[in-house]
Amino acid sequence: MTLSRSRSAFVAASLLPSLLPPLSSLPPRLLPSSIAVHVPPPSGFIAVHVAKALLADGFKVIGTVRSEEKGKYLVNLLKNDSFSFVIVKDISEPNAFDEAVKGVEGIVHTASPFYMTAGSVSELVGPAVQGTVGVLKSAKKNGKDVKRVVVTSSVASIQNTNVTTPGKVWTESDWNTFSVSEIEEKGDKAAGYHLYMASKTLAERAAWEFIEKEKPSFSLATINPPYVFGPILHQVESASSLNTSVGVFFPTAKGEKKASDLPGTVGNWVDVRDVAFAHAKALALPEAGGNRFITGAGPCCVQDFTESLLKAYPSLPNIPTGQPGAAAEANKKSQVFDGSKATQVLGLKYHTMDETVKDMYDSIKAKSFL
Ligand code: NDP
Repeated sequence: MTLSRSRSAFVAASLLPSLLPPLSSLPPRLLPSSIAVHVPPPSGFIAVHVAKALLADGFKVIGTVRSEEKGKYLVNLLKNDSFSFVIVKDISEPNAFDEAVKGVEGIVHTASPFYMTAGSVSELVGPAVQGTVGVLKSAKKNGKDVKRVVVTSSVASIQNTNVTTPGKVWTESDWNTFSVSEIEEKGDKAAGYHLYMASKTLAERAAWEFIEKEKPSFSLATINPPYVFGPILHQVESASSLNTSVGVFFPTAKGEKKASDLPGTVGNWVDVRDVAFAHAKALALPEAGGNRFITGAGPCCVQDFTESLLKAYPSLPNIPTGQPGAAAEANKKSQVFDGSKATQVLGLKYHTMDETVKDMYDSIKAKSFL
């Protein structure tokens, strides 16, 4: 199963040449380096990086965006003739992707609402499940050239938060059943994080069920990241509309954390460029099909942010130092999402926290939010 060179594909890896293993060390590609790939919609934090990674790998990318304005922003940002966009206003509309999938050989589906403050089950589960299944249905119906679909899932579809064992290691063979039972039992009254976690679980589960029942001619891979940090490239008008994960870092960068807040709790993390790299490889490598991939660089805490910020900018005001070694101690107690399969199969080498924090801080500063 090989994709022809005349077709569209996407994301480029030129941003990260040092992270790319030599091509000769990689297994054969499912998608050669000039294919049309459809990335719905590259207006989000992660999706822009995915589009960029695909373009750097030599793919043509067609992104779906909700408006002409968002599309033009991306054209200006990416400055690459291999990028174009189509408008899909709402991913949860029936047949939303019927036109967009025509002529593409690969699809990356990143769009899904990501926030923990939803007021109802349907607010998140609706677009998450209908968006994911909708892409797959459209691909089966109209995407006769599609060979591989990559869906951005999450560790939210892996972790059961009622398991509180310190140091517990989660892998791709785990499924979050607890959040789903919470929303079945409590409905709209379930905790906001369960509404989000259940939406990701149900969307990913629906995707795998679709493949099993419908037996389409394409295969599926999912990328399951924990908190994603790193430079923001997408259109953001104000600090209050930063995406959820960069919003977790923002108060520290703004100098709102005190020494008493350290070491603090964050969770597991990964750099957005590593997530993008994993999407591009999961799209291109034959053996990635049929697999889930955790992309996780390990646990982190607020003190990791402050230590990395101070290494990059020692005179930054209002950044507490914390107790030496406290971050490592705190992280030892944290649960872990094992990201080693992405390294073994996709060739992913993880960024360090110092690199990620500096680049994330610089990008927020460049937007004048600090
Ligand atoms: P963003 O909020 O930046 O991006 C979400 C994207 O989904 C936006 O482009 C948004 O479009 C689009 N979207 C949401 N609902 C709809 C809809 N009904 N119709 C059309 N488009 C819609 O989030 P991230 O980039 O951070 O997240 C992307 C994906 O990664 C999500 O699936 C999320 O669950 C997953 N993920 C993210 C993690 C993180 O830490 N960031 C961790 C693990 C998984 P618009 O901008 O126009 O609203």
